[in-house]
Amino acid sequence: MRQTLGTYLEDPLLGRLYADIRAAGRVRSISVDLTHQCNLRCTGCYYFSEGMDRFQTQRDDSVFDRFLESEIARGTNFVTVVGGEPSLELGRLKKVYDRFWMNVATNGLRRIPREGFERMPIGVSLWGNHSTDLVMRGGGRTDVFTRALKNYRDDPRAFWYYTVSPGKAHEIEGVVRTCVENGNRVLYNYYSDIDGLGGELDYRQGFSDVRRAIDRTIEQYPDQILMTSYFSEIVATGHLFGQKWGHDVCTNTTFDHPANAVRVQNGNPFNPHFRAYNADFTTTRRCCTGIDRDCESCLDVWEHFSWIMLNMRKHLASRQAFTDWLTTMYLFYLINRIVDFESGVKLLPEIHRLSGVSTS
Ligand code: SF4
Ligand code: SF4
Repeated sequence: MRQTLGTYLEDPLLGRLYADIRAAGRVRSISVDLTHQCNLRCTGCYYFSEGMDRFQTQRDDSVFDRFLESEIARGTNFVTVVGGEPSLELGRLKKVYDRFWMNVATNGLRRIPREGFERMPIGVSLWGNHSTDLVMRGGGRTDVFTRALKNYRDDPRAFWYYTVSPGKAHEIEGVVRTCVENGNRVLYNYYSDIDGLGGELDYRQGFSDVRRAIDRTIEQYPDQILMTSYFSEIVATGHLFGQKWGHDVCTNTTFDHPANAVRVQNGNPFNPHFRAYNADFTTTRRCCTGIDRDCESCLDVWEHFSWIMLNMRKHLASRQAFTDWLTTMYLFYLINRIVDFESGVKLLPEIHRLSGVSTS
């Protein structure tokens, strides 16, 4: 196996990408809801759909400070900050930023200032073009997309975290053009329809049109898209080397939560460090995106990054499989600025060329 890997790494670009992520070292991650509050009520938000806001944040920060200290002591070096809306809690956000590799997901309504947050990876949520986003996130009243465009214009920290649904594939190219012209890169996510609204939002339709549109944007903007075609395929289809995405293979489950006791014994790889913390900074739940939701509806991109990451061995079977693994992994490290961002983004066109765009 070592010999096979060595052969693959003779390619200068693969060798460079692999050296960069190995030099960065092991990621020991958690996710945390920074607050139970939000200034929006998006249609089909997993956080409120599952009632996770019942775990409430205390105003006094002493619990939060103790939580951070205990995570440092436990060896955590990476935090995915979710919620609730993290921009409502800049003081806590700053404490996370100052101590860990991290990223934050925000709805973009309130700008996270540059001062004190100079290099923070900020994923700005977006669910469609102006009219779709207005209905799905803005309740028909708030044009969240326009506000977020203004808040993050030409801001190199920000990338759009663009959640696409099966019936909205025709919007993708126009939306991405707007994002790129605003001076930001794009990472895709896939709408889960956790509320079972169906129709054009129904993930059961499959994402073939969405994948084709994503591949076209990779061809149009190879230096701006932070997702490989391979990764898009894995998230959209939920298939990886004969396994089907679900709780029994999901790698980002809280390792010591009772709901995962059987999972961690079933022989599939899992993250032995990960915990998903509620907004009380004390209790944990089964996983970042759910308490007891049906995993079939789970299309979360960060969880799928982990699934691929922890299945490296299977990707050693061929040069192309290893290339797909490595380029996808590298983009995780790049988005989260665990490797040098400025030199890494220059490699994006070459990464997409190596990963290949499949329009099948
Ligand atoms: S902004 Fe995020 S947390 Fe708030 S309602 Fe929308 S999806 Fe949910
Ligand atoms: S909802 Fe998603 S992240 Fe949570 S256990 Fe199921 S598959 Fe994993």
